[in-house]
Amino acid sequence: MHRLTLGDFELSVFSDGTYPLDGGAFFGVVPKVMWSRKVAADARNYVTTGLNSLLIRTGKQTVLVETGMGNKLSDRMIKFYGQPAQLLDNLAAGGIAPEDVDIVINSHLHFDHCGWNTLRDKNGKIVPTFPRAKYYAPEGEWQYARHPSERDSISFISENYDPLVESGQMTLLKGGEEIVPGISVQTFPGHTAHMQAVILNGHPGNGTTGKGTASGVAISEKNERALAPEGTIACYISDLIPTTAHIDLTWGMSFDLYPLQTIESKKRYYAQAIPQKWLTVFTHDPKTPWAYVEKDELGKMIAKGV
Ligand SMILES: [Zn+2]
Repeated sequence: MHRLTLGDFELSVFSDGTYPLDGGAFFGVVPKVMWSRKVAADARNYVTTGLNSLLIRTGKQTVLVETGMGNKLSDRMIKFYGQPAQLLDNLAAGGIAPEDVDIVINSHLHFDHCGWNTLRDKNGKIVPTFPRAKYYAPEGEWQYARHPSERDSISFISENYDPLVESGQMTLLKGGEEIVPGISVQTFPGHTAHMQAVILNGHPGNGTTGKGTASGVAISEKNERALAPEGTIACYISDLIPTTAHIDLTWGMSFDLYPLQTIESKKRYYAQAIPQKWLTVFTHDPKTPWAYVEKDELGKMIAKGV
């Protein structure tokens, strides 16, 4: 399991499994001769795609960013993507029960980011997977999801969010809000119009004690947990930069609804993230869920692992 201490916060990556995506769709206009140097494709041109959720223990709350693909796909979608549905098992293996989660944040509402928000109980009723949790998602994404374009309408399963909005369990965000001390959202358009990244600042005071005790924990458990340098900010950048192979400004996905905005948003992100040495969390990278993005002497983006 990937674990890291970020100030007073403990970060862990939990996967919902992997699924196949067409390599051409994953890398947009980038020619295969270029992307195939970074990512291997199978005989059908599929590449393996991860489904990384990020769990943050602040000391006061347990926060889950994204809920993977879930287990409610239609038979037609299962033909395309399979349905790995591993998140709850992986959380359980890490000692996290659904009742332990206080807050769930969705960056956007495509099916592979909010699938475990809900599940069907034994009577077929849609219920929240995390019964005690307060859920958060961008309001603009929810408005769009009610009347999506034909281009991405397949990506919306309303059972993942509508019942939560109706019951009042999901709060819709404008962008820029701080959800709990040290965890805030920022809108980065491009993949969709209103996708929000989740920014984590675990500096002492945002966690339990206000004394930065997590660094002490890190020393006693340093063999199993990485320690981010003091003051590091982490960002779950979601589908703006889905994997380490997408860190170049022009390597967007063909799923991006607004590809030119993807480039502008990446520039805006890197303008903060590179000089301030943010830790970037990659939603769809099956091998490297987080890394520091840097620019080398030639101006080329490189991802440095933790
Ligand atoms: Zn998406």
